[in-house]
Amino acid sequence: MQPWAEKFYKSDNWKKTRYAYLVSQNFICERCGGRATMVHHRKYLTEQRIKDPELTVGFGNLEALCEACHDAEHKADSPLREGFFFDKDGMLQFVGAENEDGSAEAPRVAKK
Ligand SMILES: [Zn+2]
Ligand SMILES: [Zn+2]
Repeated sequence: MQPWAEKFYKSDNWKKTRYAYLVSQNFICERCGGRATMVHHRKYLTEQRIKDPELTVGFGNLEALCEACHDAEHKADSPLREGFFFDKDGMLQFVGAENEDGSAEAPRVAKK
């Protein structure tokens, strides 16, 4: 993950905003009505956009999604999604948790 993105996703500001937004949506996926576990940025964050609070933590740019809808959103658009990045050789890499069998799994919102 890019340093600017990692810094943002690890910030208390984002964690609080993500949680507050999920609460505001009653943890319901805005697309299918399923259980929302993640908050998607409608306009994807870039190094430039990360400086704009309207885009990073403004509710107008957020969307509560379940994993299936989030996957679909990012697959429709590009192979890149939160947790993935291209390394210097152009290889797709994953920064989230790895299962014991080596398969990658998307980061999840911790269940309380
Ligand atoms: Zn959904
Ligand atoms: Zn997303």
